[in-house]
Amino acid sequence: MARVYNFSAGPSMLPERVLAKAASEMLDYEGSGQSVMEMSHRSKEYEAIINGCEALLREVMSIPDNYKVLFLQGGASSQFAMIPLNLLNGSGKADFVITGQWATKAYQEASRYGECHVVASSRDQTFSYIPKLDKSTFTPDADYFHICLNNTIYGTVYHELPDTGKIPLVADISSCALSQPVDVSKFGMLYAGAQKNMGPAGLTVVIIREDLLGHARENTPTMFNYVTHSENGSMYNTPPTYAIYICKLVLEWLKNDIGGLKSMQAINEKKAKLLYEFLDGSKLFRGTVVPEDRSLMNIPFVTGNDELDKKFVTEAKAAGFVNLKGHRSVGGMRASIYNAMPVEGVEKLVAFMEKFERENA
Ligand SMILES: *Cc1c(COP(=O)(O)O)cnc(C)c1O
Repeated sequence: MARVYNFSAGPSMLPERVLAKAASEMLDYEGSGQSVMEMSHRSKEYEAIINGCEALLREVMSIPDNYKVLFLQGGASSQFAMIPLNLLNGSGKADFVITGQWATKAYQEASRYGECHVVASSRDQTFSYIPKLDKSTFTPDADYFHICLNNTIYGTVYHELPDTGKIPLVADISSCALSQPVDVSKFGMLYAGAQKNMGPAGLTVVIIREDLLGHARENTPTMFNYVTHSENGSMYNTPPTYAIYICKLVLEWLKNDIGGLKSMQAINEKKAKLLYEFLDGSKLFRGTVVPEDRSLMNIPFVTGNDELDKKFVTEAKAAGFVNLKGHRSVGGMRASIYNAMPVEGVEKLVAFMEKFERENA
C-alpha cells in the first residue's frame, strides 16, 4: 500500500490509525452487525457515539460547562448566515476583521442582515499579515465581533486575540481547531467545518456560550436556529452520523495517542519550524507571510517564477507529495500541515525541496 503525503488544505489527511480503526469496524461496529453508516441515529449504539464524541471534545478542548456543543451540517459557510440570524438581533451591528476570503464571506453574508463594520483589513498586501487593531474603532454596542482565527488560504494566524471586552468574540476556527489549546472562555462562539482537522467533510462543529442562544430573528428557519439543535442534542433531524463517528475516533487518537492539545501543539510547532526555517534559508523558495503572523497549519510559499512553481508542483506530485498547488489568489505553493500530517512527511518534503533547489539553482 502506497499512501501519499497529502498537503491539501481540506478535505485533508486523517490519522492512519483512525482510518484503520474505521476500516476494521466497517462491516460490524462493536458486535452490532452493522456499519455505523447503516445505524439508526436513535439507536443505543449511536447515542453512545454522539455523546462520546461530545464528551471527548469537551475534555480535549476544556470546554466550560456554560457552552453548548452542536454538531451541524452545511459547512462553515452556512455559519456565515446562521451567525447573523441568531446573534445580529440586538443593536443589529457587528464588527469584522477582513483577513482573507473566508473572513470576507462572513462579512458579506452578515451584511445582508444588519449593519456590519470593517474594523481593519489586510487586503492591501494580499492578506499576508494580520492587521493591528485599534480598540477605539470597535463598535461599542455590537452584537458580536467576528474574526477568522487561522486564514487557510493566506497562511496567517492571530497570535493574540482582539480584546473585545463584553462584546462576544466569534471565531471561524475551521483550519486550526484542535491544533493547539484555546481558551474557549475568551469567545462567545467558535465554529469549524470538520474537514481540516477534526474529521471528514459533512460535519460542522459549533461551540456557543449559552447566553447567546435564544435571540434569533423571528423568521429564522427552524434548521438555522441554534436553539433547535441545542434543545435536541444535535438530533432534531438526522445528524451527519458517520462524520461524527470519525470525529470521535480522531478525538480518541488526539487524547490517547498524541496526549492532548499541548502535545499536539508541540508536534505542530516542530513541523512548521522545519518548513519555515528551510524557507528562510532558501535562495529559491520564500514564504509569503510576515514572520510574526505565520500559521502553524497552512504555509504558502513561492519561487517567484510561475514556470518553476508549476515544475515544482508537478515533480512533487510524482514524488508522492500531493496537493501542493497554492490557492489561485496567492499563486505558488501551499503546504497544509494539519494534525494528521506526520513529522516525517514534512521532513521528506523539505528534503525534496532542497534537492529541487540544487537542481534548479
Ligand atoms: C475551509 C474553510 C471554510 C469553508 O468551509 P466549508 O465547510 O467548506 O463551508 C471556512 N472558513 C475557513 C477558515 C476554512 O478554512
